[in-house]
Amino acid sequence: MSDLPKRIDLHMHTTHSDGMYSPRELMIHCRKRKLDCIAVTDHDTMSGLAECRAEAQKLGLELIPGIEISARFDPGSLHILGFFLDPRTPELNAALGRMQQARRERNPQIVEKLKKCGVAISMDEVIKEACGGYPLATVAGKQISRAHFARVLVKKGYVKSFREAFDRYLAKNKTAYVPKAAFSSQEAMDMIRKAGGIASLAHPKQMGLDPDELEKEVGRLVAEGLEAIEVYSSGHDPRDNEIYKKIAERYGLVVTGGSDFHGDGNSDVEVGFMGAGISLGYETVEALRMRLSCRG
Ligand code: AMP
Ligand code: MN
Ligand code: MN
Ligand code: MN
Repeated sequence: MSDLPKRIDLHMHTTHSDGMYSPRELMIHCRKRKLDCIAVTDHDTMSGLAECRAEAQKLGLELIPGIEISARFDPGSLHILGFFLDPRTPELNAALGRMQQARRERNPQIVEKLKKCGVAISMDEVIKEACGGYPLATVAGKQISRAHFARVLVKKGYVKSFREAFDRYLAKNKTAYVPKAAFSSQEAMDMIRKAGGIASLAHPKQMGLDPDELEKEVGRLVAEGLEAIEVYSSGHDPRDNEIYKKIAERYGLVVTGGSDFHGDGNSDVEVGFMGAGISLGYETVEALRMRLSCRG
C-alpha cells in the first residue's frame, strides 16, 4: 500500500458522448496518469459505464458511476453532474431515452440549417465522426452533439478551428443553431436522486452569471436538491475558485472538482487537471459518500 494521497478527478467524457477515448481507453489513460479514483460523467447517458467498470476493476482504479445532465437555462449553460447513480434505474433510463430521441430528431435539423448556410455535410459523416472507428453497436447509448458537428466542419475545411465552428454556426443564436430539448433543473435533480445519486453543479462559470446572481441561482438549485458544487474545473481561474468556494460554504455544499476531459485536442486539458497547482483529495469522495449515507 502506498502512502501517497489518492488523486481524483470527478468529471470526464468517453466516446459514449463527446469524448474521444472509448471507456476502456479512458480507464487505461487515467491509470497511466496516476489517478486513483475517477467519475465518468458522459452527457445524458450512462451507456459507457459497464465497460468502464470492467476495465477499471482490472486496473485497480476506483470508478464512481456518474452522468452530466443538461438543464434548461437561458443565460448560459446549466449542467448538473450526478455521482454514485445506479445505471439500471428504470425512471432514469426512461427519461434519458426521451432525451436521446430528442437529439436524434435535432441532429438532421442541424444538417439542414448548415446546408442553407452553404455548408454541405451529411448525417452519415457526423455519425462516422462520432463513432470514430468503433462500430455503432458498441456505442448504443451514444450521444451525438454539436461537438461532433464541429469536428466534421474542421475536417472538411469549412472552419479553421473547433471554436470557429461554434462562433460561426453552432453556438446559441448562430445560423445553424437548433435548440435542444432539455430537462428542467428540478427534473435533472429528481432523476439523479431517484437513481440513488448526489447532484453537483458542473462548471458554474459556464452559467454566465455574475457572483450575486450565481449565489441566488445556486440557492434555487439547493432548494431543488443540489448538494455539491464543482468549485474546481479546468475552465476556472483562481478568482473563480474563491467565489465558488464561498458559495459552497454559504449553502453547506460538498466541494467537487474535475477536468472535464474530452481528449479532443481542443484544449490541453489532461485528466486530473482542474487548475494550475490544484489537486483534490479523496476527502471529497468521502464527503459525498457521507451525504449519501445520511439519507438513510
Ligand atoms: P449539445 O449537447 O449538442 O448542445 O452540444 C454541447 C457540446 O458542444 C458541449 O459539450 C461542448 O463540447 C460543445 N460546445 C457547446 N457550446 C460551445 C461553445 N460555445 N464553444 C465550444 N464548444 C461548445
Ligand atoms: Mn462535452
Ligand atoms: Mn458541461
Ligand atoms: Mn463535461
